[in-house]
Amino acid sequence: MKIGILGGGQLARMLALAGYPLGLDFAIIDPSNDAGAIGLANHLHGAYDDESLLHELAQQTDIVTYEFENVPASVAQLLAQHTQIAPCARALAIAQDRLIEKKFFHDLNIPTTNFAAVNSLDDLEQAIKTIGFSAILKSCRMGYDGKGQVLLHGPEDLVSAWNSMRNSPSIVEGFVPHTREISIIAARRPNGETVFYPLSENSHSQGILRVSRCCIDDPKQHEAEQYLARIMEELDYVGTIALELFEVQGQLLANEFAPRVHNSGHWTIEGAETSQFENHLRAILDWPLGSTQAKGYSGMVNFIGGLPPTEQVLAIKNTHQHLYAKQPRPGRKVGHATIRTDDPELFESSLKKLTQLAEQNIA
Ligand code: AMP
Repeated sequence: MKIGILGGGQLARMLALAGYPLGLDFAIIDPSNDAGAIGLANHLHGAYDDESLLHELAQQTDIVTYEFENVPASVAQLLAQHTQIAPCARALAIAQDRLIEKKFFHDLNIPTTNFAAVNSLDDLEQAIKTIGFSAILKSCRMGYDGKGQVLLHGPEDLVSAWNSMRNSPSIVEGFVPHTREISIIAARRPNGETVFYPLSENSHSQGILRVSRCCIDDPKQHEAEQYLARIMEELDYVGTIALELFEVQGQLLANEFAPRVHNSGHWTIEGAETSQFENHLRAILDWPLGSTQAKGYSGMVNFIGGLPPTEQVLAIKNTHQHLYAKQPRPGRKVGHATIRTDDPELFESSLKKLTQLAEQNIA
């Protein structure tokens, strides 16, 4: 069996690494020359919406999946005419537009921050009267890792914030003073069989994920599972999915979902019985899903913009390093490492050392 992936970055790389033991092969479409999965998959070099490449991908593979959600809807539709795709085009269409996504949460009775659509400075001024400060203005589309977002502290910020959006359809949200950011990851088969991973607790800086820790027996597990189950059922979802939530005064508010494997689930490679990558492949191939049970304590630290020396990473007890074969650039995720151990004290001390080492090498 051969799996096609739109996008050839680190998520495609880790999907391929999970798929080889299962006897799977891979092909990717990616416009760049240093995408992380090159070398692990047949590389169709070019744009994601290049029709001849899409035809070739459909011909070469048994099923096509994605490693990122900003695939034009036309691409998903074209692929669906020629091959099997998972997750469905509707999941992509919702996840790639923040306003549609927030309305989708709302329709499913999943709590979110207060929000309003903004298509002009006037809209922003009106919306802020109800939402109040602090607030965040976000472009509806193509925003990730904090890109296309401006924090609004007071009325003096409105004009420059709106100008920075360059007239793109936007959304303004109340800034929530969250106590925690968490995410829940699940995998679902076509027959509805679903498995949930233990919650991840996530630390961000400048909009980019830095550290994710697996939370065993978290009091919010059940509530988060219920919200994600609603989303998966509504979409008749197939594959791995992640839902990011804020915890505010004990309440969970949905921020966004990703119809794919997710950075906050990288700890599952060593820290769960079956990784999110393997379960994504099992789900889209309609194979039995693997156990999501946590193996002791685990946490992941991202390497952003630069790599700590491997010898120093591996000198930290119980570390597993994953490099993405990408050229370091400021703000670019170029690798991660996971600590996994049965010893809670060793876990905390190793995670602290790893976090410090990663921070020293951030660019
Ligand atoms: P996003 O691209 O929506 O995931 O935002 C990136 C990061 O910005 C989040 O992980 C939060 O740390 C922060 N953030 C985004 N929206 C809000 C909000 N409404 N209130 C507080 N923090 C937020």
